Amino acid sequence: MRFDVLTLFPDVLEAVLGSSIIGRARDAGLLELYFTDIRDYTKDKHRKVDDTPYSGGGGMLMSPEPVYAAYMSIAGDLPYKPYTVYMSPQGKVFDQSEAIRLAKHEHVILLCGHYEGIDQRVLDEIVDAEMSLGDFVLTGGEIPAMAVIDAVARLIPGVLANDESFQNESHFQGLLEHPQYTKPRVWHDMEVPEVLLSGNHALIEKWKHEQSLLNTLEKRPDMLRDAWITEEDAEFIERHRRAEDDKA
Ligand code: SAM
Repeated sequence: MRFDVLTLFPDVLEAVLGSSIIGRARDAGLLELYFTDIRDYTKDKHRKVDDTPYSGGGGMLMSPEPVYAAYMSIAGDLPYKPYTVYMSPQGKVFDQSEAIRLAKHEHVILLCGHYEGIDQRVLDEIVDAEMSLGDFVLTGGEIPAMAVIDAVARLIPGVLANDESFQNESHFQGLLEHPQYTKPRVWHDMEVPEVLLSGNHALIEKWKHEQSLLNTLEKRPDMLRDAWITEEDAEFIERHRRAEDDKA
């Protein structure tokens, strides 16, 4: 899979995505990542890429032409249109299901705005979707773009040492992950749950699934509405609720 990021701050992306798991995935050729500096595509002798908005109100807006020229430097010669996403607080909020959808594309371009944003005309011309990191406003699209790349990259086969690890993680199946423990067996007088030391895999899997249900119920009950849960799961949750009510 290939990601291109159109940005005014390619060094920021390189510094973060050049290391650790994503850096290794790039080195191994599992993921292609390119960062294009929009400023390289301005014709202004001072490398200016912004201007005042016609609507007034202060602030500066990124001009359409450098963004378009930067985009065309990638897409211009391709026989297909790369799926192009504008990182924007006005977009659909990015989540795990969006990450899974995005991972199905061979080539994605992420466009990062800055200042007050980007002239609407170039967005209308090149953008296929807008994606938001959440309902808040950041100064630029770089942090959201890095979050998207990180979340998508770890879904690519081979990027994680163990491909099963992301399938058990929070959000993959609409539930939060169960609590996890490592050595030592006793820490600050707290013991690792006995079942994890039992060596009984069926029992351990059952415990993990039930803990995942309880974790979701406690921290994100809203997720249970859309999660795919069996009748047995629903009964388990109901039993747990009744037991909690009895305690109260
Ligand atoms: N004036 C814009 C508005 O009200 O919608 C906000 C512009 S914001 C200050 C500058 C840039 O940061 C945006 O062009 C976008 O690329 C990025 N950005 C800000 N918040 C974001 C968010 N929650 N998710 C994704 N990108 C965001």
